[in-house]
Amino acid sequence: MRRIAIFGSTGSIGQNTVDLLTRQGGAGAYAVSVLTGGRNVALLAAQARALRAGLAVTAHPECYAELKAALSGSGIEATAGPQAIAEAADRPADWVMSAIVGAAGLVPGFRALAQGQTLALANKESLVTAGPLLMAEARRHGATILPVDSEHSAVFQALTGEDIAAVERIIITASGGPFRCWSVEQLAQATPDQAVAHPNWSMGRRISVDSASLFNKALELIETHEFFGVAPDRIEVLVHPQSIVHALVGFNDGAVMAHLGAPDMRHAIGYALNWPRRRETPVARLDLAAIGSLTFEAPDPVRFPALRLAREVMKAGGLAGAAFNAAKEVALDHFLAGAIRFPGMASVVEDTLARLSGESGLTNAPVDLDAVLGMDQHARALAREAVNRLRTRDRG
Ligand code: NAD
Ligand code: MG
Repeated sequence: MRRIAIFGSTGSIGQNTVDLLTRQGGAGAYAVSVLTGGRNVALLAAQARALRAGLAVTAHPECYAELKAALSGSGIEATAGPQAIAEAADRPADWVMSAIVGAAGLVPGFRALAQGQTLALANKESLVTAGPLLMAEARRHGATILPVDSEHSAVFQALTGEDIAAVERIIITASGGPFRCWSVEQLAQATPDQAVAHPNWSMGRRISVDSASLFNKALELIETHEFFGVAPDRIEVLVHPQSIVHALVGFNDGAVMAHLGAPDMRHAIGYALNWPRRRETPVARLDLAAIGSLTFEAPDPVRFPALRLAREVMKAGGLAGAAFNAAKEVALDHFLAGAIRFPGMASVVEDTLARLSGESGLTNAPVDLDAVLGMDQHARALAREAVNRLRTRDRG
């Protein structure tokens, strides 16, 4: 039986993964070794019982007693805290889903690679912060990383059987989010609830705001560069409000292969789960006649500066990705808390990168995870200062 571990099983990607595993036979077909979650202990315990998991871990030590109680009599082990999550990644597993949100997903995914098996990577922040390290670690252990982001799964599928040297360009699409047609003035008034109301995809709260600001697409530009090893100037972003075409790959003979499908993450998760085979998933089948038209437009760099910032980060290389992601996470937290306005997120990230570019070390190649985690902490502190400066300015 294939041994499965899911990091972040209670999130949007995690629940979709559990759904697919259940449809494909659940505990009768898979040996689920590890499930991890956060404060939603009731869901974590219910998933662990249904899949007869070996171990359930909550990220929060204060939730340990509740988890232990919810699992009593089941024989399922319970642990808690970031260290326990990292240790859970050392348990034997053949297929590991990395679906924790944010930089917190880096260490467990990295450690899971030591098993030399398959890492299904939804946590794009791992590639943004430590892409070269993660890819090298996979090579070192003979492990396979499969992309779970819809665009990257689409590119991966379009590249099957192809020579990467024949790739001229990769185009990832963006829905444009709920604010695609909003003016600069309207964006300044946008609320978190408006930002999480994604038109096409149902996702976690944080990635939904990132979709509205195009920071999600900015992370995905870097993710594409790190995963496929394609030069930044060969990677493009195309706004496509219907979210039916997920990515396109252009080859040196002029051919362009596009990947189409309903916006449902169970396609990309199912592809990674069953790779290299395909297996039925419950995603809606495309009816292009009913959809009628697919439209495309260039992203607006003025209202959505995130893509420009991502290009600067790719140019800088080194630890810039770690700094970019950390500053973005801090800015996002402050927007969700109502402390800064929607356009303020890009200002905070830009301000943080500008301060860091004056310091040596930003463009140094990340030598190890400690360097990445050190930059993560440093950039968070600078981003909090940038938030304070912005708030002072806005009050003044
Ligand atoms: P989510 O917020 O719905 O779920 C996140 C999961 O991580 C939960 O299980 C939560 O308990 C856990 N978690 C949160 N903070 C943690 C921490 N500090 N330590 C340990 N665990 C923690 O997020 P999501 O939308 O499922 O996204 C997960 C990842 O997948 C993100 O990296 C996101 O960018 C990526 N992704 C998501 C989608 C999508 O459709 N939701 C699509 C592509 C990529
Ligand atoms: Mg995506």
